[in-house]
Order: sequence, then C-alpha cells, then structure tokens
Amino acid sequence: MMTRVTGIVAAAILISIASPSAQEPGGRGRGAGGRGNQPEFPTELQWSTNEETKRRVANAMKIGGSDMQAQAKMFCTATGPQRMALARQAAGLPPMPNVVVEPTRVFDNMYWIGMTSQNVWAITTSDGIIMLDTMNSEAEAREVIVPGLKKVGLDPAQIKYIIVGHGHPGQSDHTGGALYLQKTYGAKVIMNPIDAKLVLPTQRADRPLAVPDIDASHGQKLTLGDTTLTLVHIPGHTPGTMGVIVPVKVRGESKAVIVLAATQMPTRESLIQFEKVFNDFAKPAKVEASLNMHANGVQSDLEFLEQIRKNPNGPNPYLYGPAKFSRWMDIMIECGRGRLAALGIATS
Ligand SMILES: [Zn+2]
Repeated sequence: MMTRVTGIVAAAILISIASPSAQEPGGRGRGAGGRGNQPEFPTELQWSTNEETKRRVANAMKIGGSDMQAQAKMFCTATGPQRMALARQAAGLPPMPNVVVEPTRVFDNMYWIGMTSQNVWAITTSDGIIMLDTMNSEAEAREVIVPGLKKVGLDPAQIKYIIVGHGHPGQSDHTGGALYLQKTYGAKVIMNPIDAKLVLPTQRADRPLAVPDIDASHGQKLTLGDTTLTLVHIPGHTPGTMGVIVPVKVRGESKAVIVLAATQMPTRESLIQFEKVFNDFAKPAKVEASLNMHANGVQSDLEFLEQIRKNPNGPNPYLYGPAKFSRWMDIMIECGRGRLAALGIATS
C-alpha cells in the first residue's frame, strides 16, 4: 500500500491515502476479531435497556465528577472508544488522509513518531533506545520511523529493543516494521508468544514479520541502562496484547505513564485482568497518563502533540496527575462492566 512520497502538506508528508489498517480486526464490531460467534459489543438496544448497565454508566459519570464527563461519555458506549478511522467510518465521514506527523518529544525521554493512522514511541535510556511498536511495513520503518528518529536527533542504530504490543493474524499494523529494524540495527524484538504464534503463520508475503527474540510476559521488567520498563498483559483486543509502564521525565521530574496498545475488555477474564493491571501495577506506580499507537483513539493525540510542539515548556496535556488518572482507569473499568452486563455476562 506504500506509495511514493507525493508532496508536502504543511508539516506533514502525504505518503498514502488508503490505509488497509483502518479495517483493523477487533475494532470493527461484532465477531470481527475472530472470536467465533461471541459478540464483542452489545447492541445499542442491549446497551440502553440493561438495568445494571444503566447503574454502571451512572456510576462512571459520578466518578468522572466535574472534570471528566467527556471521558466517561467516550468510554461508556456500546463499543467503547474507537480508533479515529473506525469512528469516522461509523459516523459516515470520509477517511482521514494518512500522513506523517511531525515527530514530537512528548517527555524528556520519550518521543512520538509516526503517521495519523499509527505510530511508535521511542524511549531513550543511558544505553540506547527502546522502541514500542513498529508501524505497518518495512517501507514505513525505513521512510517514517528512521527519518523521524533522525529528525529529533536520535540514532536508529541505537535501537536495542523493540516491544511489539500486539499483532493481528494476516495484518501488520503494529508488527510490520520490526523485521527491518531487527535486521538493520540488530534490535531485539520482544512480543507475547500468544500473539506471535497467531500472526507468524499468517504473515503476508509482502510484509514479512520478525521472529521475536524474547518472549514478553506479564510483570516482566525490561532494563536498558538507567531505565526499567514493566510489561503487563492486557488481553481483550488480541489474546496477547501487552501494555508497558514507562518511567518518564518531565523537565527532570520523574513521572510514570502506561502505554495501552488497546483498551478493549470484551470478556469477564479480560476485564478482571485490566483491573489487576490498573490496581496492582499502574496505581502503585503512580501512573498519570495513557499513551497509545493509534492517534486520537482514546484522546486528542494530534492536538496534544501540536500543543507540545508549540509550547514544549507548557503544561503537558497527557499528564492527568495520579489521582485523576486513577479515576480515569476506574471509569474505563466501570464502562467495561456496563458492556459485559449488557451482554448478560456477570461482572462480579
Ligand atoms: Zn490492534
């Protein structure tokens, strides 16, 4: 799908309009994620008429208080938050052009690099770079990730580890660039073997995938130089989806963020696991922001990035503070319970 660079539009280079990843399985709706006949989302009727669902939604709004009504409304829907491409599709809007966004230093040690469809995060340490996800393909790795790193003054040869958060069989939107970075720079690829075993046999001939060097597991610590990340298992979007808790610096001050590759919790087991990750890992680590690999999935990333680029010393829009972010996670869980209840699944 990679076409040649066609022109410069403001700060963005138009690379490709048609994004097959807009049809990402697991975000599309009922049954689309290969989970057999099990519905992923309740119908609007189930959602709006179930008594427990109504109670859960009311409680989520209450947790939202005066400062997070918009977030509570976004999470408490029959589908939960949807990727921008899918949300636009559902609303009958034309697809947004898939363009390269100006690479952005979001925290002292963490950079956003990518396109409007998907992105990677580069974490700098005293001993090299850890990259989270790899975009779609070798072409995107070569033409977007590598130049993006160079543009913010980073050396791609310093990529030591790549954590691939999840993968979809037959699709490469997070996994496709890994092989190029692995073979070009010797970066070690880390991925949950549950997803690796599903995606490797179905890889497309034109998008060869990396065989992971290291298996990712729940609670695993990854240390490079002065930085230790914590990997957490958050199944739901795919069976092997991994989140990553990252210590970041903001003008020298230590903070913690969580990278949530996906926020779907369509089964009781996945909801319980998210709850454990939030309560046992994120809250004790005083996590105060969520980041992801698809811009505008759960928050206005494209606006946030622009705001940071315009005013790098101003308040960072990603950072909620630990107390507010703790409520944000509680809202997400309560809305997840509302969806399960609407499907007739016990929530406690
Ligand atoms: Zn996905």
